[in-house]
Amino acid sequence: MTERTEVVIVGAGGGGAVLGLALARKGVSTVVLEQAAGPPGGLRGEILQPNGQQVLDRLGLLGQLPPDATKSVRLFHFCRVGGNRLCTVDYDLLPPPYNRAIVTLPNVAHHTILQALESRAPGALRYGVQFRGLLREGRRVVGVEAECGNKSLTISAKLVVGADGAFSKVREALGIPARLHLYGEAYLIAILESPDELEDARYFVGRRTIFGLFPAAGRKVYLFYMIPAGSMPAVKTAGLDALRTNWLRIDPSLEKTSQSLVDWDQTAYMPAARVRTARWVTEGAALIGDAAHAMNPHASQGRMQAMADAMTLADLISSCRERGDWSAEALASYERSRRPQVEMLQRLADEQVLFWNTGNPLLACLRDRVFRTLDRNQRLRYRVLATTAGLRTVAPFGLIDRLMAAGFLRDPHADRLSAETSDER
Ligand SMILES: Cc1cc2nc3c(=O)[nH]c(=O)nc-3n(C[C@H](O)[C@H](O)[C@H](O)COP(=O)(O)OP(=O)(O)OC[C@H]3O[C@@H](n4cnc5c(N)ncnc54)[C@H](O)[C@@H]3O)c2cc1C
Repeated sequence: MTERTEVVIVGAGGGGAVLGLALARKGVSTVVLEQAAGPPGGLRGEILQPNGQQVLDRLGLLGQLPPDATKSVRLFHFCRVGGNRLCTVDYDLLPPPYNRAIVTLPNVAHHTILQALESRAPGALRYGVQFRGLLREGRRVVGVEAECGNKSLTISAKLVVGADGAFSKVREALGIPARLHLYGEAYLIAILESPDELEDARYFVGRRTIFGLFPAAGRKVYLFYMIPAGSMPAVKTAGLDALRTNWLRIDPSLEKTSQSLVDWDQTAYMPAARVRTARWVTEGAALIGDAAHAMNPHASQGRMQAMADAMTLADLISSCRERGDWSAEALASYERSRRPQVEMLQRLADEQVLFWNTGNPLLACLRDRVFRTLDRNQRLRYRVLATTAGLRTVAPFGLIDRLMAAGFLRDPHADRLSAETSDER
């Protein structure tokens, strides 16, 4: 039997769950198919940037995040391995009320979104269902085939949305060419206990090293440690002592915190991939989030961009519905409005990673000069902050700014914020 709905979303991750909820709030009949048996439970580091906070606010959820599971962080200190501070970025420069980063305990924001979806549209979210293929009429996509246990499921829809992550099967079935790049660097994430209540985040850069430390609620702290892709078995073989010793070399003040690492269960391995696709929309179908544009986690924007895609597409779906037009042409404005920011962030994150952990002494010297200039230059620092916060769609620096950041040109407006903030305030 064929089930009918207006929109079918494959994947209830960062993008799919938000899209499902946004559509439920608009009264659009939607089915969200998720292959996992239930909401995710694993360890992940999560920072809600200001643009993600705006999305949650629009969905009425920002104020519902449990206070004992969230921590607002204003100051991010960038340091050399060993501890020398290079630059401090203060989120308080951003327009209130989103003038902070929010660090959440694992999956807290995602669970809040999933719960809201289930209460708004009971039965719309189906766990344990795997996408198998597309239904087509000529060139037009008109639904999906899926599998739940041993049962097949056929769902016809006006629009199919692939929100199924970097290795998207929907993208493959749509025949959309994609360049998938697996980074040589991956990340070990850990959640530890801190003896003191930390307020500020610290980020360490150095030869082949990137190490982030983010305060979370309840005196917890997330560690974000770059390791070679595929090297987790070797890291485990070397043992917890070796890992703690490495961390202390990077941040000597971690002595007590690192003692709370006693089990590999406190850690998780996260590979990183980048996806570039020729197009995000076809006749009757669209891709959102990592399926369309996975990016290096250093942008701290992957999930935020998936959420932003979802909100933009949800608004467009309302007008497609009114006009009864689900063509690629009608959907194209979603891609046009989202692509510039996403591509800019993909480039920026790659550039940051290249410089931050460079082994080349000249590049390392240039990187440190840029950080030190940013520490003194409020205008350029604001640009970088607003970009990471997801509030800018264009790159933070043009050529002249780059020369100023590297210290080759003087910036006569280094103390001026007024022109910079007009876009975001
Ligand atoms: C180390 C690391 C740190 C990160 N830190 C941050 C951060 O601080 N801030 C941030 O914004 N982003 C961060 N990200 C990125 C973020 O996790 C992703 O960009 C985001 O989750 C993308 O959302 P999505 O919905 O596109 O995909 P996902 O969240 O990957 O969701 C895809 C969903 O589709 C489901 N699915 C897949 N295939 C099928 C199928 N065939 N049938 C049914 N369901 C299917 C999956 O089970 C999954 O639930 C980080 C990523 C990494 C690797």
